[in-house]
Amino acid sequence: MNNWIGITGKMSAGKTTIAKQLIKEENNLIYINVDDFRRKKLEDELYIKELKQQIPPLRKYQVVTSIDLNKYIYKYKKYMKRYKKILYKHLLLYLSNLKNKQILVEWALLINDHLDKYFRKIIYVDIKDEIAINRLKKNSDLKISEIKKRLKEQKIQRFKKEVKEKILIIDGERTVNMEQIKEFIKPMKCKFTLSNNKKKAIWEVTHQCNYQCSYCMFSCNYKKEERELTTEECYHVIDELVKEGFTQLKITGGEPFLRKDILEILTYASKRLETDISTNASMITENIVKKLNNLSLKMIHVSLDGTKEQHESVRGKNTYERTLKGLEALKKSKNKIRIGTVIHANNENDLEGVIKNSIDLKASEIIFSIMDLMHSEDKTLGKKEPNHILIKKIKVLKEKYKDSIIVNLNFDDQPSYVTKCPGGNHFIFIDNLGRVSPCTWIYEKNKDFISKQSLKNETLQNVLSEENLKQFICGKKAGICYGEI
Ligand code: SF4
Ligand code: SF4
Repeated sequence: MNNWIGITGKMSAGKTTIAKQLIKEENNLIYINVDDFRRKKLEDELYIKELKQQIPPLRKYQVVTSIDLNKYIYKYKKYMKRYKKILYKHLLLYLSNLKNKQILVEWALLINDHLDKYFRKIIYVDIKDEIAINRLKKNSDLKISEIKKRLKEQKIQRFKKEVKEKILIIDGERTVNMEQIKEFIKPMKCKFTLSNNKKKAIWEVTHQCNYQCSYCMFSCNYKKEERELTTEECYHVIDELVKEGFTQLKITGGEPFLRKDILEILTYASKRLETDISTNASMITENIVKKLNNLSLKMIHVSLDGTKEQHESVRGKNTYERTLKGLEALKKSKNKIRIGTVIHANNENDLEGVIKNSIDLKASEIIFSIMDLMHSEDKTLGKKEPNHILIKKIKVLKEKYKDSIIVNLNFDDQPSYVTKCPGGNHFIFIDNLGRVSPCTWIYEKNKDFISKQSLKNETLQNVLSEENLKQFICGKKAGICYGEI
């Protein structure tokens, strides 16, 4: 992984043990100590020297101490009050240029100075705080053990409030449990594969749908929601995305082709953003295909779950012929057609049949996903085969049919690992009312992170500045994937 592990403060035996282990396995080391430029660094230097000897040839290390930042210290040391502030400014700048920062191992003061933003998770080792203990000892009759206990509780409370899920607190007086640490720092799997440096939005342009699939993620409705965005408001959404540097857009629903203005929206969007659309194809006619052929879309994604029986067992009666009719019309499409098949209990043993059918329909790609039964009452619909068996089967079929169709899956055994949730920064979800959430999964599972304002009449910048979203995006909550909850 080549993660950077940050170690701060005085190198205690506990921290040294953790550092040695983490470096040995897969990580690089950054040692940060800008605590007190007057303090002799001999002890820390000895630790670091020892640590360096443990660093295998391919691992990198970086040490940042007051000594390294000397030029700033000596320049500013006469301004004692200001020097720390300036020093931190340089340290933050330094950190922001370092890629793959993962773990910060302890230092309360740094956490206060918001260094936690720069790391995905924090391991806090050794709760002892000699200065605070001595201060309390002078002013109270409490026993040392009682003072330590109180201080520890206070700190834990504060950290929990400040950095919540990101922090693992380890009592430095006990043996370090490396298994616990490894589990804690495991990389985060994002459910989306996002291209580097590209910003992507998924936009549910309507909640209205003429199907009622049992596993539909969105609370779709046969009836149109009256407050949905007008064509002009949709143009405003697209303009806002462009203004904020988004380059990719996925239009979805509901069934987007139930919107009378969908071709206008697609025309406007595809001129400005790399646009694709997901549909059940039931509304697609030859006439619509002709119009779509004038646009340059990244792809048209059609959901089809196998034979009539397999498809209708999860998507409802009379949905197969309607989708097939649309797919027949799409045979004349100049845009790329991708079939999306959800693997469930009734089609998992016929993946080859599903692929052959997609080849007959002239699709250039088929992508398999697995059913999330989040909203389904019938839990027996889910696939029975474990993921790794399905992945193996699909890989064999991919090879077998590679000359006829691209076979893909979106539940790979190597999901995209992220050091920080891209939600809100590189990825957003927009609902049918123009409200924004950092990710589709968060929108579904945690209503705290849906904007109150709408892109109907607000700028994207203002919407993303809402306190709850800002809190998520700025990293206090970004250490975890809400999709996993
Ligand atoms: S077609 Fe798509 S949007 Fe409509 S109910 Fe099915 S999964 Fe939901
Ligand atoms: S919450 Fe973040 S990490 Fe998880 S799936 Fe969404 S964007 Fe990816």
